[in-house]
Amino acid sequence: MFKKTLAGMCGLLISLAACQSPDNAQTEQTDAQESTAIADTTKREPRPKPEYYSFKGLEKKRVYICMDPSEDTFHQKHDCPVLISCASTFRNLTLPRAVEAFGRYNCETCSADLAYVFDENAVRMETGLQGQ
Ligand SMILES: [Zn+2]
Repeated sequence: MFKKTLAGMCGLLISLAACQSPDNAQTEQTDAQESTAIADTTKREPRPKPEYYSFKGLEKKRVYICMDPSEDTFHQKHDCPVLISCASTFRNLTLPRAVEAFGRYNCETCSADLAYVFDENAVRMETGLQGQ
């Protein structure tokens, strides 16, 4: 009885493992297709420079920016579809410099997790000490 169950489990594990490689290959292909779709919709007016931002813990974080004048975002991923669609040159620089010197916001595609850098409420609590 016990032996039978064990054999069944082994069979299950083997079929799971066998399924994994083709799945991974498919995911990569889908990503590449999405990249081209997103690239067509990125033309827009840049927003004004961000007024509120806080880099606590991110002072040395490096990001990428596209030097095209219509761009107003920074990217964490060098292979971000929006960054790849950049028609100009791009630069690798620190996050504070991208925001302060170039007025960049977080890219919604690759850096949505950094939106809190520009969260007004969170920033006010911190900059209160600096008299702003
Ligand atoms: Zn991006």
